[in-house]
Amino acid sequence: MLTRKTLFLADTPDFITLRSGVAPALLLSFTLADRARSLLSIAAPVAIPIATFTALPADALDVSVSPNAPRLGDTITLSIVSDDGTAPTVTVGDRDFPSFPVGPDRYRAFIPTTPLQASGARTIEVIDSGDRASLSVNVAARDFPVQSIWLPPAVNALQGTDYEFDRMDAFRAEVTPDRLWTGAFIDPSDGWISTPFGVRRYYNGEWAANYYHRGLDYAAGMGAPVYAAADGIVGLVDYESNGFEIHGNTIGLNHGQGVTTTYLHLSEIYVSEGDRVQAGETIGAIGSTGISTGPHLHWGFFVHGEAVDPADWQRQGIK
Ligand SMILES: [Zn+2]
Repeated sequence: MLTRKTLFLADTPDFITLRSGVAPALLLSFTLADRARSLLSIAAPVAIPIATFTALPADALDVSVSPNAPRLGDTITLSIVSDDGTAPTVTVGDRDFPSFPVGPDRYRAFIPTTPLQASGARTIEVIDSGDRASLSVNVAARDFPVQSIWLPPAVNALQGTDYEFDRMDAFRAEVTPDRLWTGAFIDPSDGWISTPFGVRRYYNGEWAANYYHRGLDYAAGMGAPVYAAADGIVGLVDYESNGFEIHGNTIGLNHGQGVTTTYLHLSEIYVSEGDRVQAGETIGAIGSTGISTGPHLHWGFFVHGEAVDPADWQRQGIK
């Protein structure tokens, strides 16, 4: 003869029948068991007889990291299993990063790394309402190309406007919960890459300590199409004539969950703020507005406001 316990644990179809067909004893024990979980954390002994009756999972907070061996400029992706029902928070140093649901009890968080950071281990804390996981992730150094750029003194002295930097900062700080991209990001131009990500520079013989090339340059003819690299919402459109002295005519796309892309130096802009765009849609045209030595697109890829190497996002896509 089956006990209630074996029926519950070993005979799922019968259990389901019983649940839907009013089995007061079982339903009661289920409710008590749910309560037992919160009781257990305060007064464990009281609830043990009830707890052994249930098949509820143990409180869990599991974290896995990709890529296996990140290098400076990579985006670290955390995959988190948490059964607390709320999205865990991720902390690295003095910065918090949000996580977003990707399935039942499953969350994902992105941590940007940049060429300006120190290589080596960083401690990542993942916290949900009941648990804390601490992990150490090593980020390897990477040699970025170094260029010497000589600009006419008048151009080298250009600082840009507060207006353009404030607007760009505010746009890149946007974090909206819906993931709008799917699969890999595409090239935003048919041109060839004239300057890769992360290049460090001397300007007129002086080492630019806070500079790294925060994106990819695509060289193409004046007026050639510029494509949305992924689905998103146009979060910024602005023009050299409004004070975008350095960036030139610019589009910013918000792809959700802290991922944004920017399109600089455009000659034409075909979208407006608030528009929803699709991957591959022509949003503007190659130009040379702002500080630019010839027609090209500067394409920036940002995670939580930091310019990261888009290579992984373009190759396999980070879902
Ligand atoms: Zn550039």
